[in-house]
Amino acid sequence: MPTKNKIILLVISIISFTFFLITIDMVYNFRNYGIQSIDDKAKAVAKTIEHSLTSQMVSGVIDDRELFLSQLEDIPNIDKIWLSRGQKVIDMYGKGFNNETARDEVDKEVLRTGETKRVVNDQIFSQSTYRITIPYNATSKGKINCMSCHTNANEGDTLGAISIEMSIDDSKQIGMRTITDTLLIALVLMIVIIFLLNFIISPFLSLFDSIKKVMNKAQQGDYSYRIQNPKGKEAKDVALWINGLLEKLEITLEAIDSKISIFLSENHKVTDKDHLINVKNTVDRLSDVYKFRKTIEYDETIDDVYNRLAEVLKIKLGITKFNFFEINTITNEIILVHSEANVICNIFEQGCRADRTNTTIDSTQFKDICPACPSCDKTNYFCVPYAISNELDLIISIYTETVNQTIEVREMIPYIQDYVDAAKTVIVSKKLMNILEYNAQTDALTGLKNRKYLEDAVSKITSQTKRSGISYGVLLLDIDFFKMVNDTYGHDVGDNAIKLVAQTLNENIRESDMAVRYGGEEFIVLLYNCDEKGALDVAEKIRINFSKKDIPTGGTTTIRKTMSIGVSMFPEDAQDLEECIKYSDLALYKAKNSGRNKVIKFERTLL
Ligand code: GH3
Ligand code: MG
Ligand code: MG
Repeated sequence: MPTKNKIILLVISIISFTFFLITIDMVYNFRNYGIQSIDDKAKAVAKTIEHSLTSQMVSGVIDDRELFLSQLEDIPNIDKIWLSRGQKVIDMYGKGFNNETARDEVDKEVLRTGETKRVVNDQIFSQSTYRITIPYNATSKGKINCMSCHTNANEGDTLGAISIEMSIDDSKQIGMRTITDTLLIALVLMIVIIFLLNFIISPFLSLFDSIKKVMNKAQQGDYSYRIQNPKGKEAKDVALWINGLLEKLEITLEAIDSKISIFLSENHKVTDKDHLINVKNTVDRLSDVYKFRKTIEYDETIDDVYNRLAEVLKIKLGITKFNFFEINTITNEIILVHSEANVICNIFEQGCRADRTNTTIDSTQFKDICPACPSCDKTNYFCVPYAISNELDLIISIYTETVNQTIEVREMIPYIQDYVDAAKTVIVSKKLMNILEYNAQTDALTGLKNRKYLEDAVSKITSQTKRSGISYGVLLLDIDFFKMVNDTYGHDVGDNAIKLVAQTLNENIRESDMAVRYGGEEFIVLLYNCDEKGALDVAEKIRINFSKKDIPTGGTTTIRKTMSIGVSMFPEDAQDLEECIKYSDLALYKAKNSGRNKVIKFERTLL
């Protein structure tokens, strides 16, 4: 219902109710006032009759009272007057010639109780009457002692009663007229108010209705509605301001929404038709992604980046079972880089369908879709490929137990895409950093750690050993008469020999040991957690195994070479690893000078 009608209805209701109350009050008061004045009148008449009858009695003309009483009935509004004698008067003087006994129950009650009784007979459409019956009680006080004539009466006895019946139509008519007048005034007032509302307040009310409609639409996200046809100057001004504001809001929000969503992944740009909510959602997401990106930029390793991406999946998106795989697009090498579940497919042997087809693989849509996952009956898999760089793809494999969970995961994909997009450059730069770091620490010819790496590690190993007390065997190896190989067969054959040394070392040491290409054809091996005997045994094994290796010379022939090894123990021989390496060098020197192709343990006598 329009506001104008609502207000008119309200005003009419209030006026009607007010006038209704006023009318009720007036009718009630008029009636009371009418009855009160008639009551007073009746009492006065009763008193007059009492005095008159007493006088007539005393004067001996009591028999003329009928005339007197009938004359009283001529008084306006007095319809009837009659007397009723009490029993004691009847006993003494009889019932009177007009049989003045109680006419009805009211008379009887008043004669019995000595109390005045009133009966109001209200009629709306016929005559309304007021009847009062007043007792005459015997008294010795006053000018005339009642008991002087009524000798059989006692003080307070009811000698008789007078009943007067009067019309109260006059006051009823005044009341009715008042009600009619009041209703007329109310009607006029209502007409005036409706007129005022219609012609003065109406433009503002219709403007208000229009604003309500427009704002309601804006609140629902539709800013295209405008206030139409405002009436009156003030309403036109207000409409102009509001329309202008809405116009600005619509254009600006639409522009911000479309521009800001560029920063998000393609498939979740439009989420709400309300641009304002869209902008808020987009900004929220961008700020989350921005914080994520800023954090991973300061992460030290690529593993930290994957851990943080996994945290987003677990905490923000509520995905619990998943794995991240890196796939090198050139070598097809597949590495599990982060794991939150068992790998359920044969990805390492059979490759990845998601990566091959560059599409999302969803087992809830096609059962057995991936040939690498033939027995994934109970677990649904959802694998998404992300291109990180030309050479690197990231596969996120998510596992769920129900189809509904997969549907939820599907809705999360755009969010994951945002975070992966944010992580891309960081992953690439961390990879490059890793390559640079690897190159800086690795010997290109042999793939062993280089001298620089050892120098960087020396202080760390020294302090670790001091804390743990774990010993290292320090082996310094050098190929015997190596210069001759170069000179005889050329540098490439020399390189082959060096590579074979690296291979021999890798074959004879453990994962926890460290092999370093220390110089041209000089190597250092640090044997972790090793006693002297163990160190000498490993050195001997290396020496013998290398001496049996055939070094290709480029043609059909091969040659064999030997090596000399100097051994010292850290920290038994020296508190400083660098010092220990020097001692191994002294032992090596001795090996060279004492015939080569042997292992010599450092001893203090060599100093
Ligand atoms: P010795 O038994 O006393 O060790 O005799 P040796 O001939 O091996 O003498 P030395 O250790 O001094 O010889 C080192 C030679 O190793 C010199 C250099 O030509 C060669 N060399 C150093 N680095 C490389 C390399 O990277 N490749 C090749 N092919 N030769 C290298
Ligand atoms: Mg040498
Ligand atoms: Mg040598």
